[in-house]
Amino acid sequence: MAPRPLVAGNWKMNGLRADAAEVRALATLLTDDLACDVLICPPATLLTTILDAAKGSAIAVGGQDCHAKVSGAHTGDISAAMIKDLGCSHVIVGHSERRTDHGESDALVRTKAEAAVAAGLVAIVCVGETEAERDGGKTLDVVGRQVLGSVPDAATPATVIVAYEPVWAIGTGRTPTEAEVAEVHGFIRAELSQRFAAAGAEFRLLYGGSVKPSNAKSLMAVANVDGALVGGASLKAVDFSGIINAYN
Ligand code: PGA
Repeated sequence: MAPRPLVAGNWKMNGLRADAAEVRALATLLTDDLACDVLICPPATLLTTILDAAKGSAIAVGGQDCHAKVSGAHTGDISAAMIKDLGCSHVIVGHSERRTDHGESDALVRTKAEAAVAAGLVAIVCVGETEAERDGGKTLDVVGRQVLGSVPDAATPATVIVAYEPVWAIGTGRTPTEAEVAEVHGFIRAELSQRFAAAGAEFRLLYGGSVKPSNAKSLMAVANVDGALVGGASLKAVDFSGIINAYN
């Protein structure tokens, strides 16, 4: 059976308390018989506010990153346990903006994912090639290395989600063709099946990078795409619900 889809929003460094209104608006737009799960990952400063706004709705709330350690002298960082303690269910790790802006390696991303799972969160592990890597014919090499290096050995379909986000598609309005998405998602599925045997078929594989209401249906219909990780178009209820509607 195909995994139940997930449409996840990554607000990145956007949003003030007043933007909780978008989450309340989204809650009113979602039907009771949703055919996918819905998640919003606001900045850490808004986790409590968005949890309150989402209360009683089908919207789950997650963090955008966590430290690899449980606690200690790490000024400015937050731990997976802190995110879990608020009532969150997920955390994104290894987003390309973290890999680029903060020099995060596969090994660090894997440790963060392990910390997230140990704290009781589902880890959304992001992978994806740069434009130069794609142009150089290295997409599957890079994605394969990231999946191998970033996904914990103890991962299960219940604790880890993999998000494929080509770096050149993030925030650019450009997306890979459906055939290109199918190729990479099929490749990730095969890698996970090789490593985790039958469970490999049950991992959720999200596509991310310039997903919007107008392209969501065709991208979500691609084989081995079990949902979306959405940046810009997750900020407004009307756009995000348009993407969720790809499943409804
Ligand atoms: P985008 O971002 O939808 O704005 O392209 C996706 C992401 O980085 O998760």
